[in-house]
Amino acid sequence: MQTPSAAAPQASRATRDPESRVGEFDADKSPVIQVQGLSKTYQTARGALHLFQDLNLEVKAGEIIAIVGQSGAGKSTLLHILGALDAPSTGTVYCASTNVAKLSAKEAAAFRNREIGYVWQFHYLLPEFTALENVAMPLLARNMRKVEALKTAEKWLNEVGLEDRGDHRPGELSGGEQQRVALARALVCSPRLLLADEPTGDLDSVTAGRVFDLIERLHGTHGLTSIVVTHNMDLAVRCGRTLRLENGRLIQVTDAGPKGPQAGHIH
Ligand code: ADP
Repeated sequence: MQTPSAAAPQASRATRDPESRVGEFDADKSPVIQVQGLSKTYQTARGALHLFQDLNLEVKAGEIIAIVGQSGAGKSTLLHILGALDAPSTGTVYCASTNVAKLSAKEAAAFRNREIGYVWQFHYLLPEFTALENVAMPLLARNMRKVEALKTAEKWLNEVGLEDRGDHRPGELSGGEQQRVALARALVCSPRLLLADEPTGDLDSVTAGRVFDLIERLHGTHGLTSIVVTHNMDLAVRCGRTLRLENGRLIQVTDAGPKGPQAGHIH
């Protein structure tokens, strides 16, 4: 596993008051995410596709930020790089005290299991397993005993209000319930970071609002640092900061931090 240098950002788990406004954060907290000079280029049949050039981002412990932007702007790619699912072309990407750009495939898998909770637009639950078994899956992947894994998974199903749906298979759940199970699965290993890629994009507006409420609550009660990609501005503005990815740059749209809402370029 990559050992961060002395200059690497120190991650700290924030203990947050569940009653406090989501997104408010202590400006003194160390960054959990620190991206510097990130570029990403895909080689395609039509030539090089430059997604980001010299992109910078800092996210402090306990922050919840939204990233918005047009389809194809590179939002998913950015989340994949932060979550060690994809590698940058150049730049440094410190995430939860780890230089993720330097991880081997095996190290990246262990890093994801330990530090990252990932939620996608589509739930990607395994259809042949029950909700409870799906939630337990990441714990079984780290060789936890089955009885213990199921017990922890039960606690998480309870957290997302689905304790009475544990024996349902994904096909026997509503869209909102499926996404709540996916959220429980993302958090069952107590990650430091929650990365959510259009987590409400496949849901009607009422259900989307409820799933977002749940994300906000879990973010607060579990001291998470969260990044939510969404095209829904009503939901985005509820986050502490909203950044728009545009032409390979992140532009600050809102900031509800200590100085209140503001707008401006961060890079
Ligand atoms: P967004 O999430 O903002 O919609 P993506 O990050 O999914 O954008 O994709 C950004 C651009 O990169 C798109 O034009 C997409 O086609 C392209 N892209 C994504 N992955 C690859 C890949 N593996 N190879 C080549 N191009 C890719």
